[in-house]
Amino acid sequence: MTTIASGMLAVALNAAFRGWYVLPLRPGRKIPLAHDVDHCPRTGPCADGHRTWEQRATRDLAHVEAHWSAHPHHGVGIATGPSGLVVVDLDTPKPGDPPLPAAWQAEKVRTGAEVLVVLARRAGVEIPRTYMVRTGSGGWHLYYAAPPGARIGNTGRSLGPWIDTRGWGGQVVAAGTVVAGRLYTTARNLPIAPLPPTLFQPLLTPPRPAPRPVRVALPAGRRTAYLNAAIRRQLAYITDASTGARNTALYRSAVALGQLVAGGALTDTEVTDMLKQAADIHIGIDGFTAASADATIRSGLRASAARPRRIPA
Ligand SMILES: [Zn+2]
Repeated sequence: MTTIASGMLAVALNAAFRGWYVLPLRPGRKIPLAHDVDHCPRTGPCADGHRTWEQRATRDLAHVEAHWSAHPHHGVGIATGPSGLVVVDLDTPKPGDPPLPAAWQAEKVRTGAEVLVVLARRAGVEIPRTYMVRTGSGGWHLYYAAPPGARIGNTGRSLGPWIDTRGWGGQVVAAGTVVAGRLYTTARNLPIAPLPPTLFQPLLTPPRPAPRPVRVALPAGRRTAYLNAAIRRQLAYITDASTGARNTALYRSAVALGQLVAGGALTDTEVTDMLKQAADIHIGIDGFTAASADATIRSGLRASAARPRRIPA
């Protein structure tokens, strides 16, 4: 480059240059610019099925330069999962916060930073110094490297009051971005330290359900071998999907089985029930919720309504 990048382009390039996957945020907000699955136009990057903001986040410098040159008002988010980061979000009290849990009242804590100090004291460890960002609302983001091979999702208040963590399925506002008129700034420009396992043990042993065989009851009556085979294939596609591909798999299977609904071979309720049962294996893992599964199923069924498929007689 012959020119010096400035503004949000510089912020985005800086993050991407560090190896972090960036995504555009809505101007002044901390939410991704990208549409959600319910508003997917099925064009451009989603031509082969919806791609989430996490899947679209990039560290490709040319791509980043093209985007923020054209859209210098977009904020910069960092997709923590693909970037290999776990960011510990130390918040400050806000009106409407739930009351301090009884277990914390004796500690006289008032902020997430104070809670983390207590957690470190209890664990008998230091809080490792690492790259740290001051958030627009006066909180702190501590950036840590996820342990190799671990796939750590987001948490909300499970470590303690005013402490959230962002991993897979999460993103954080990059220093240099303004949210609600307030700038996120680099507070400590240090190398990223490894996530201290003792301090964050609950993140490393999440309550994951054990993989289990999925048995989905096929609808009674009107069965044909062809229909059952089609159903089984689609449900296996969902249950076998990796974490990164599960939402796309769910959507595609909802479209495929939805076409059979449109063709009259199955009812909407039957297909919705089967898809939910198959998707259940992914619920609670890396931030996938029943609500997001339901939204994807509805979206797939809607998309298939105009494309009926009939079973060969
Ligand atoms: Zn899309």
